[in-house]
Amino acid sequence: MSDPKPFDPLAGRDPAAPLDEEAQYLFEDAVRRMPKCELHLHHEGAAPPDFIRQLASEKSVNLSGIFDRDGGYAYADFPDFLRVYEAATQVLKTPEDYHRLTLAVLEQSAEHGVIYCESFLSPDFCGGGDVSAWREYLAAIEDAAGIAERAHGITLRGIVTAVRHFGPETAKRSALCAAETAGEFITGFGMGGDETMGHQGDFAYAFDMAREAHLKLTTHAGEFGGPESIREAIRDLRVVRIGHGVRAIEDMALVEEIAARGIVLEVCPGSNVALGLYPDIAAHPIKRLQEAGVNVTVSTDDPPFFHTDMTGEFVQLNKSFGWGIPEFCALGHSAIAAAFCSEPLRARLKKQMETN
Ligand SMILES: [Zn+2]
Repeated sequence: MSDPKPFDPLAGRDPAAPLDEEAQYLFEDAVRRMPKCELHLHHEGAAPPDFIRQLASEKSVNLSGIFDRDGGYAYADFPDFLRVYEAATQVLKTPEDYHRLTLAVLEQSAEHGVIYCESFLSPDFCGGGDVSAWREYLAAIEDAAGIAERAHGITLRGIVTAVRHFGPETAKRSALCAAETAGEFITGFGMGGDETMGHQGDFAYAFDMAREAHLKLTTHAGEFGGPESIREAIRDLRVVRIGHGVRAIEDMALVEEIAARGIVLEVCPGSNVALGLYPDIAAHPIKRLQEAGVNVTVSTDDPPFFHTDMTGEFVQLNKSFGWGIPEFCALGHSAIAAAFCSEPLRARLKKQMETN
């Protein structure tokens, strides 16, 4: 028998009263166990450091200088983060590597109660943009996702992702890979990479191709780019979700437009703080965006690189804004409503959220 709602150790408490150690432990445990849905996760960026170390040692690749004393990823600033990210992910070369990566990532997510996640998969890293090579990587990822689903009860869907700083022509190749493999597993198309390179509209052809293949669309905007980058994404790429989008807060007319259009923001507070957009979670605009009527969701982006996970994100939101289990349930429902998945799967996830 399942409880009708996730256990809430804070129910009935004065929200302003500080938690003692035991109450904090019970709260964090309840947060960890409650069912969650994550929409913004980079497949390579979710690679656990232990897994990368193991793979590097099998391949005799020297990765000294990217780990801290506790074995986590270590970097000093944003350029250094890029160096560490590239060094860690360069050991991922073959479909078999991606099979193992997928198992490691999903096992890690399931430990934090994630029952559904969408991850960004890039044909540029999986077969160099070649459709037949991409199919091999995808088959390996899907096979591993099936194993993880049976073992841990977590469902994965893939968003094929263009890398912005590789340019529009390369993005077209990614869109072709996406269109050729669109279906039950590949359900979306998006774009990550350096937001300061070119304009969103430079990639309209790739996004049009993906839209014609019935893929749902998202793009990174309003992270390192300002409000104009978000406006371009909405106008030129006609996306239904935006990766980050938090810098919309600098332009309240844009915030109103996002709310009115029902565009969903894939907000990753821990990532934004780790990369220096905001000094801490208390300064993060997620609450102000939500209060202005924007449909926000919470994700981890590249969790081990930012020393975060879904439990940690929620615990930080509790500490800064007093959000508790009811607010996290509402965020989970927003994410399921915005998921790029089939309607039968959405109905099943909704039921799981309500009955677990
Ligand atoms: Zn991202």
